[in-house]
Amino acid sequence: MMSKKKLGVNTICTHVGEVKDEQFKGAVSPMYLSSSYEFLDVDIKRYPRYFNTPNQEFLSKKIAALEGTEGALIFSSGMAAISHMFLAFLQKGDHLVVQNTLYGGTVNFIKEEFPKYGIEYTFTNGYKAKDFEDVIQSNTKLIHIETPSNPLLTITDIRDVTQIAKSKGILTSIDNTFASPINQKPIEFGVDLVMHSATKYFGGHSDLSAGAVASSHQNIERIWNVSKNLGGNLSDMTVWLLERSMKTLGLRVKAQTKNAMKLAKWLNRHPQISKVHYPGLKSHPEHKLAKAQMTGFGAMLSFELDKSLDSEKFQKKLKLIKSSMSLAGVESTVISPHLTSHALLTQYERDSVGISDQLIRFSVGIEAVKDLKADIIQAIESF
Ligand code: PLP
Repeated sequence: MMSKKKLGVNTICTHVGEVKDEQFKGAVSPMYLSSSYEFLDVDIKRYPRYFNTPNQEFLSKKIAALEGTEGALIFSSGMAAISHMFLAFLQKGDHLVVQNTLYGGTVNFIKEEFPKYGIEYTFTNGYKAKDFEDVIQSNTKLIHIETPSNPLLTITDIRDVTQIAKSKGILTSIDNTFASPINQKPIEFGVDLVMHSATKYFGGHSDLSAGAVASSHQNIERIWNVSKNLGGNLSDMTVWLLERSMKTLGLRVKAQTKNAMKLAKWLNRHPQISKVHYPGLKSHPEHKLAKAQMTGFGAMLSFELDKSLDSEKFQKKLKLIKSSMSLAGVESTVISPHLTSHALLTQYERDSVGISDQLIRFSVGIEAVKDLKADIIQAIESF
């Protein structure tokens, strides 16, 4: 195959990491379901929990090629990816600096599990580089960021944070789920570890659970050493399904991103929408930064309904757009963060991070924009 550097993104999505069907020359990767392989020698032991069955090994190459890293590992969920990654780089007495606006599951993992391992952590007071610098301690080993963040789509300056970390010998990790490598390549800005909930854009059809971490060979080996003990590997059936889904990752995310831009502009002009959070809008506080570090502004946005519209009722009145816990499928979905991802926070805590009861998170799909607009209009007009 040609050098990966020269391949276009859709070529990588389609072809890198294919398992060649040497026997029948089929067009797609065969699915290897064996959980037991011939023992060749101590260094070549294939086993699902060693993350090296043929489908696992090859799909990792696609993810690494998309993120521009030497290697990658695929997990059974985004949380398996993040927890295995954290536990590979943090041990008793170490300290993690972590962004305050973060996926709720990651927050729970840190708060509930870290004390059991004797790992210290500090959530930043904001998402600016200075907020990270302010809470670094002498035992800080890792800084974890999420940009664009959920659900307010704040943008953290990836280069500034990694430079601060590097100057102090600290590693950085990023949750790149919202942007996907189609819209953001954090490795180019100095991040060491890039993780994904592959349940989202990588899968893209709301029908599988998976996770991934991409990094250097050295870092991947360090994670692998922990992961083979913890056992968060993905079943080969789902690996195969994920490979199939990822062939259209570039096409899907580009179409979704285009739709999101159109909808964000339209919602921004709508008299009954008081605010739109989308990094592609010139009015977004970090629009310029997003433009500098993203190749597209992504397909996630959030908006605030006018006080006269009850957000729960609004969701129930939508006919085409589904109310859904998850995100990033080809179908458009909405959710109220105050009832779901941020339900465990107090009203005061939600208010202090800007999550109002009127806020709707919108995962934009591939449908015709005119149909999505019509659905929102009929929902508003039916009040
Ligand atoms: N990171 C982000 C940004 C997410 O939205 C999610 C899930 O919603 C996760 C991580 C966790 O992924 P999973 O649900 O696949 O474990």
